[in-house]
Amino acid sequence: MEKVRVRFAPSPTGFLHVGNARTALFNWLFARQKRGVFILRIEDTDIERSTAEYEKRLGEDLQWLGLDWNEGPDVGGEFGPYRQSLRLELYKKYTQKLLEEEKAYYCFCSPAELEEERKKALASEKMPVYGGKCRSITLEEAKRRLAAGEQATVRLRTESQGNISYLDLVRGQLSFDLQLIGDPILVRSNELPAYNYAVVIDDFMMKITHVIRGEDHISNTPRQLLTYNALSFPPPQFAHLSMVLGRDNTRLSKRHGATAVNQFEKQGILSSALFNYLALLGWAPPEGKEVLGKDELVALFNLKKVSRSSAIFDHDKLAWINRQHIKNLSSKKKVELAYIHLKETRLLPEDMTGPHWEWFQRAVEVLIERVDRFSDFHQEIVVFFKFSPPEMEKKIKEEIKTKEAFKVIKVFSEKISQTERFDYDKFSALVQEIKKETGCKGRDLYHPLRIALTARGSGLELDKFIPLVEEGAKLNFPVPIKNCSQRVSEVMDFLKRS
Ligand code: GLU
Repeated sequence: MEKVRVRFAPSPTGFLHVGNARTALFNWLFARQKRGVFILRIEDTDIERSTAEYEKRLGEDLQWLGLDWNEGPDVGGEFGPYRQSLRLELYKKYTQKLLEEEKAYYCFCSPAELEEERKKALASEKMPVYGGKCRSITLEEAKRRLAAGEQATVRLRTESQGNISYLDLVRGQLSFDLQLIGDPILVRSNELPAYNYAVVIDDFMMKITHVIRGEDHISNTPRQLLTYNALSFPPPQFAHLSMVLGRDNTRLSKRHGATAVNQFEKQGILSSALFNYLALLGWAPPEGKEVLGKDELVALFNLKKVSRSSAIFDHDKLAWINRQHIKNLSSKKKVELAYIHLKETRLLPEDMTGPHWEWFQRAVEVLIERVDRFSDFHQEIVVFFKFSPPEMEKKIKEEIKTKEAFKVIKVFSEKISQTERFDYDKFSALVQEIKKETGCKGRDLYHPLRIALTARGSGLELDKFIPLVEEGAKLNFPVPIKNCSQRVSEVMDFLKRS
């Protein structure tokens, strides 16, 4: 069987967003599963918008996501160069051939003329299709006009009757009316190849067997097929993936939150989680198991089962998948990532000592369960560092001002100030005494105690919180951790003052 060769062919005109990343990923999964070849080709003939910086970032984002390529601009390969701007001579060679065989012709229509033609067609509710004014200009005449300094595009000569059809691996049999296509432009007046032309030559020369790309390219496919025919190249198979939409069924955009791969990285989404989630956009694994690693996805992926309906990008689902992937990380990796994400907050000292690392590791273990992404870690760990009764939420302040709550906190404050080496066992013993003395129980007892220790209405279980606070208070942190006794006394002072 022919070796599978697929490519991801981004234009370096922006950051890698999830729609394109999904296209890259499906190509990659298909290549790896079929033990084929995955190629990265840079389509940079839009010289005004393409930049080297974007090309570099695209490569970095693909690598971060865990996609590697067998051939590409950086790694080379048998069918290079893999950057279109370095292939211009190749395209020219084929243009010459098509012109000589009269399968293509020079078109001297000015943009203004074409615009006029377009407007007329639209006004009479017709598809704006090039009318073919320059079709009869001979190559000799065209050359004379070019030598005299006129500018021209090169168009493919196509039939105006009949249909062109192909079998799309995702969408099934598709057919297009040639009348609605017109003669596509192959080469622009600046002598650079149009996308629809360069892509055909490259896919043929790079021996691409399957073109897997976004549905927005469906309307380009008949134009490309006509070009394959004109060049007598056998076409590859095509698979067009549905669009990725936001939850409101509109095209995914900034309004829907992060869309660029690097934004997810900054938010603390793991690359394995984004990889997993992107694979589910338009494809569902058999047996409904959704949390999957790279190898499992390679084994299970099935291009034939890719859905035709639009895929909805759901940030909540991604967060859920991320949480599952976080759980599966080693303890060392969790600590490492949490540390990276906390760096800017300056809560941790620059020179972490052994005891700091031990404390931090224990904090990560108990807090990690509570976050969907590492960027949320700060708001969890801050409960140890930020304790300021005057800044408590209004609702919380009200709750501890009731007679009952005040009584509980007062007794707690008296008792804790007389307790040495406070820990969770001592806390449990105190709770029993406070219960007896105040007659409060259940939420009336525990809620004020929690507030007295955390200045918050909810959070970590106290059996996890208390030891971390007590041990953290013995260490040097840029923002010192107050021990339990200090905390309760500050809340008491606050209550007395207000
Ligand atoms: N450069 C095109 C794009 O980024 C590639 C389309 C294709 O895969 O043929 O949309």
